[in-house]
Amino acid sequence: MYYLDAAATTPVKKSVLDSMIPYFSNKFYNPSANYTPADDISDTVEKIRREIAIYIGCQPSEVYFTSGASESNSWAIQGWIKSHPKGRVITTNIEHDSILKMVEDPFLKPYFRMIPVDEYGYVYFEPILKEIEIAIKEGVEREDILVAVQYANNEIGTIQYISLLSDGVKKYGANFFTDATQYLPEGGYALCYSFLNNIDMMSMSGHKIGAPKGIGLLIVRDRIKISPLIYGTQNFGMRGGTENVPYIVALGEAFRLLAGSNRDQISYTRRELLRKIGEITPIKENGGMNHLGNNINITFLDEDISGQNMVNILSAIGVYISMGSACSAHDDEPSHVLKAIGLTDEEISRTIRITIPHDFKDKDIPDVVAQFKKAIDLIKESKK
Ligand code: PMP
Repeated sequence: MYYLDAAATTPVKKSVLDSMIPYFSNKFYNPSANYTPADDISDTVEKIRREIAIYIGCQPSEVYFTSGASESNSWAIQGWIKSHPKGRVITTNIEHDSILKMVEDPFLKPYFRMIPVDEYGYVYFEPILKEIEIAIKEGVEREDILVAVQYANNEIGTIQYISLLSDGVKKYGANFFTDATQYLPEGGYALCYSFLNNIDMMSMSGHKIGAPKGIGLLIVRDRIKISPLIYGTQNFGMRGGTENVPYIVALGEAFRLLAGSNRDQISYTRRELLRKIGEITPIKENGGMNHLGNNINITFLDEDISGQNMVNILSAIGVYISMGSACSAHDDEPSHVLKAIGLTDEEISRTIRITIPHDFKDKDIPDVVAQFKKAIDLIKESKK
């Protein structure tokens, strides 16, 4: 079996699982309670908050634990709108569904302006600036404008030149939010340096880096005002609810492992897989040169090869890939990201995504490629 869908989720790493287990049983105390064992739990949560802050390059007071990146995205934007009711949100048409579905909400829709991307999925500053200028002309204050651009795309792997975008946005007095969910696994030390001062908010998810599903982060600079998501006392009164301590401990351990990870190997694997699949059948790679090290998004040029057939046949022989985002895998609609970069519906139907897990072994490349060949041969055979 080969699991090649790491952008959808990753298994919980062994040391992550080991780290969290005691917090379900003998270390079960509520961190808000007032006795010594509970104080220890509260200290643990705050220690992890500090460690994550160091890793990211922000203050501990700027780290909020959430249930995942969908929650973080919803909170960042709805929290912004609630506390800036005369504001505006400028975003792109390749964001994750947790953002794009907000744009469809009749209450929230009037706040949004959308900007397009180019054929590689890059976002440019010029259209952002144009929308900032329009907003200002329409009477929106600069400080009420939020620009939301994802760090890296979950389908086509394009990494944005995020520091250029965020620097530009701040220069014009607006604010910048990025969904860094897919960039986080790439991060290693990079993320720490790239969390530049001009990024005002950033969302992340634990299950892409070997923590369980159901834990994530929203980083909110102290200088930024958003409304609370859940009223209560925890998370500095911004996201109430008794902390999910085992998952917070797990997230802390997953960050520790990430700090020591080496992504060069994965980039090599990616190039090798691409080259070898390209030798079996003609393909076109989608996405930009500035690309996630583990992401391959390809369109088969042979019109007989449909992405859905490839996914199904490979699945039957134990190779798990996808046609795109797992979150919209059950939609019949063609991918909004592939549409946004200009692929036709027919090209989209010939497109697949492979995302390589961190523990993939290069010695398995020939076997994976052989499985691809088997699937393609079967499809070609059935067309005769
Ligand atoms: N943003 C991006 C870019 C993602 O890829 C995902 C997960 N597919 C999310 C947000 C949502 O993350 P979660 O599953 O933690 O809600």
